[in-house]
Amino acid sequence: SGRWALHGKTALVTGGTRGIGRAVVEELAALGATVHTCSRKAEELGERIKEWEARGFRVTGSVCDLSERDQRERLLREVADRFGGKLNILVNNVGTNIRKPTTEFTAEEYSFVMATNLESAYHLCQIAHPLLKLSGSGSIIFISSVCGAVAVFSGTIYAMTKGAINQLTKNLACEWAKDNIRANSVAPWYITTSLTERLLANKDFEEQVVSRTPLGRIGEPEEISALVAFLCMPGSTYITGQTIAVDGGMTVNGFY
Ligand code: NDP
Repeated sequence: SGRWALHGKTALVTGGTRGIGRAVVEELAALGATVHTCSRKAEELGERIKEWEARGFRVTGSVCDLSERDQRERLLREVADRFGGKLNILVNNVGTNIRKPTTEFTAEEYSFVMATNLESAYHLCQIAHPLLKLSGSGSIIFISSVCGAVAVFSGTIYAMTKGAINQLTKNLACEWAKDNIRANSVAPWYITTSLTERLLANKDFEEQVVSRTPLGRIGEPEEISALVAFLCMPGSTYITGQTIAVDGGMTVNGFY
């Protein structure tokens, strides 16, 4: 296994059928990793797995809803079976958003976004810990957001989940360093995916986003997966506890 490859590594990437998760599955598999992924829609997952097999990637998948505690536990049992109780890489990618003013959120919406974005990632770390430890060299990557670091008009519950993930990254980096498990977060700004396509189809909104972005465009999922892959490789073994923005310069743009 080379310095810039992932041969012999095992990975769980949550939410791999579309968007950023899909790009991460493909990036890790292309670098030689064996990958397990999941999503809620059996048909779409089946289609992806066929495509990946045709490309020679080693990818399997489970249908599960990660907002449900028992389904996370089942997923981890399947991962443990498939990888012999060991896991090198956990990519907590699943996340969703409801955009509305703070005063309009219902209790159900609060619980749904919290369960999907934060509780699921937290619980998956808990139950993946023994597998990551047993692998001898573990890497946890959270897909956070720049919304966890600066205030963006995109919903306060989402922003809170991402801010919490950035802090969780720091705590786990310290708590699990003794087990040779690293934890890092990747924080994107707007990326073209199914989560944002309707929002960005509004050209006025897209123009506003682009005008705040020094690189002057929306990002692509492959620009996120590249960093995720690096954070899993032997070349990054001294990087832990960090939240790294992949944002075209948005968060350093004071007033340009
Ligand atoms: P998409 O909605 O395009 O894709 C989400 C993926 O996760 C799909 O495969 C979806 O499949 C799966 N998924 C969603 N909910 C669940 C669930 N409860 N259980 C299992 N699988 C689920 O999202 P993105 O790729 O845009 O976002 C991925 C991550 O990146 C999120 O955490 C998001 O917050 C973050 N992010 C995205 C940005 C963007 O601009 N796109 C910017 C900053 C951060 P299915 O629906 O079939 O379950």
